[in-house]
Amino acid sequence: MNDYDLLVVGSANADLVIGVERRPAAGETVLGSDLAVHPGGKGANQAVAAARLGARTALLARVGDDAYGRLLLDSQRAAGVDTVGVLVGGAPTGVALITVDPSGDNSIVVSPGANGRLTPEDVRAAGSLFHASRVVSTQLEIPLETVVEVVRSLAPGSRFVLNPSPPRPLPQEVLAACDPLIVNEHEAKVILGGAAAVGDTPEDWARILLAKGPRSVVVTLGARGALVASAEGVSRVPSVTVRAVDTTGAGDAFTAALAFRLGTGESLAEAAAYAARVGAAAVTKEGAQESFPTSEEVAAL
Ligand code: ATP
Repeated sequence: MNDYDLLVVGSANADLVIGVERRPAAGETVLGSDLAVHPGGKGANQAVAAARLGARTALLARVGDDAYGRLLLDSQRAAGVDTVGVLVGGAPTGVALITVDPSGDNSIVVSPGANGRLTPEDVRAAGSLFHASRVVSTQLEIPLETVVEVVRSLAPGSRFVLNPSPPRPLPQEVLAACDPLIVNEHEAKVILGGAAAVGDTPEDWARILLAKGPRSVVVTLGARGALVASAEGVSRVPSVTVRAVDTTGAGDAFTAALAFRLGTGESLAEAAAYAARVGAAAVTKEGAQESFPTSEEVAAL
């Protein structure tokens, strides 16, 4: 019996956000707004997004033994995520220092902290979580060798979903396990080794990516929706028209929804259509985790 619809292995960060009139140049100090602290990190975001949709979700991650680590644990538990796999200590909690100017442009410095200390050994020690999960999803805000170990730890019959963000070239072993690999345009181009190797249309990127080994590929296209590609062909996923307020976290919400629904037995096209509704709902509200919809809100969209 599976105990979890989804196991997310990934990062957990505290996002520290300050609004500024303009971003400081080297050697300069500027005054900003009050500090806002939000739970974030792609792993933590995906886990919250899935749990809010009703998925039985577990998170395997590492946070520091500090106030930000407790903030992250609290936000996961509040969303209903099982935090039995969240390891504490070894380094400070990962932090993203974000300044935002009035035009909405931001500058971000990330300290991976404890995320960088989530090791292959930590993954091996969490074997029971893998055996209890239908679908395992991850991203690249943790060490690549840890992602490789995630692939090696998959239980027979469970499905692996990867959003390679931030993107970097991937070992064949990881590419071949993806079902699907979920990329936006930038990620597609990095995985394919630069724009020169990439065709003109998202359909081209999907076909070329598929030829590199994943069992399926999803390309997300922001307000234009998404497309899915597998041995059965390439098809567009309709976009959902909404008034976008803040696109932060839309990709995480989309990935979490897709991974959850694949585990319930939906086809890739069905799961992606649902995920597009979840991504669209997420852009109608400010923030990342704060913007993730419940299944009722998705139905009402
Ligand atoms: P992120 O900024 O979180 O990294 P991403 O680039 O990975 O995002 P997007 O393509 O921006 O991912 O968004 C994921 C999905 O969410 C899209 O494929 C789409 O279905 C939905 N979505 C995003 N933005 C909009 C929008 N403005 N209107 C409707 N749907 C949207």
